[in-house]
Amino acid sequence: NLYNMVQDLKGNIRVYCRIRPIFNAEAKNVIDHIGDDGSLVVVDPLKPQKDKRKIFQFNHVFGPTATQYDVFRETRPLVRSVMDGYNVCIFAYGQTGSGKTHTMCGPAGGLANELGINYLAVNDLFQLSDERKDIIEYRFQVQMVEIYNEQFIWIQKQQTNSFYATQYTYIPSVDFLTTNKLEIRSCASDDSLVLPDATMCPVKSTTDVINLMKHGEGNRAVGSTAINNRSSRSHSVLTVHVHGEDVSGSILRSCLHLVDLAGSERVDKSEVTGDGLKEAQHINKSLACLGDVIAALAQKNSHIPYRNSKLTLLLQNALGGNAKTLMFAHVNPEGDSFGETMSTLKFAQRVS
Ligand code: ADP
Ligand code: MG
Repeated sequence: NLYNMVQDLKGNIRVYCRIRPIFNAEAKNVIDHIGDDGSLVVVDPLKPQKDKRKIFQFNHVFGPTATQYDVFRETRPLVRSVMDGYNVCIFAYGQTGSGKTHTMCGPAGGLANELGINYLAVNDLFQLSDERKDIIEYRFQVQMVEIYNEQFIWIQKQQTNSFYATQYTYIPSVDFLTTNKLEIRSCASDDSLVLPDATMCPVKSTTDVINLMKHGEGNRAVGSTAINNRSSRSHSVLTVHVHGEDVSGSILRSCLHLVDLAGSERVDKSEVTGDGLKEAQHINKSLACLGDVIAALAQKNSHIPYRNSKLTLLLQNALGGNAKTLMFAHVNPEGDSFGETMSTLKFAQRVS
């Protein structure tokens, strides 16, 4: 269709910037100007001179008043292309507190009209499946995986019971691997990483997915008593696997990865010891690897360094080739965050 043609001309990597509202009334605003053309002008509150302003260019910039639906409207064609067989990755990048989870999930316990991309996307896939039911029969399976300190943690289907939220548990990959000897394996064909089948949860409706996500979040909160604020220290990946079969019996397979990345903030090494330092190093390394992979794809390099992190290894099939990638660069516009904002915008610029 036309959208795909236009997007293919543009390349398969898109970068959107989203600026959240200012919450501290006293704070200086680092955003000088947002252009309709995706340009963004940023000002350092300590050096507000006109010639010191920094200009960035994105595929789209969403200002503080953009609604969840404004954001979804620009994301929807990409989500829909999954139903035509494209693999798609959508990432939320930015420092903690910049609005990543707001974009992907919506506000905690939020209002119905503030649901994030995860819900709106899944809902749209089911809707499209229904619209096309006479032509193609679709089936959906969902995986929820977290990557914490370069280890996988996932929601797993237990053997005895049938499908539902309480029948899934979070199992740290180390224990699982040693006790059950279920290795995460590489496919001989393309060397990509495959999680155990038990991590696949068949879903029949948006409600199924929401229940699963709630369950995942619940487990995440339990984990956070042991590991302080783990949610911003881990990457969370919600994957929708699509299987379609048309009347002639031809099969289509694709997946949509919805990724809420760990906070990108640089931790001052002198302040952090032990677990915190290890976490920070893992996060910095894996985000840098993700940046390397997307930048290498954008430059059409022959070698793509997928194997340098668990995240890029997991997403390998959906990064590069025909796959489509969308990165949201999240910005907290308050003056105190200027340094982090610049680092987020530079990261995003590099991969676009
Ligand atoms: P992150 O996941 O990047 O740490 P959150 O998504 O948790 O950040 O956002 C931090 C706070 O700011 C939350 O209370 C969230 O609801 C709020 N927030 C973030 N983005 C927006 C937005 N665009 N509009 C309104 N509130 C927002
Ligand atoms: Mg978050």
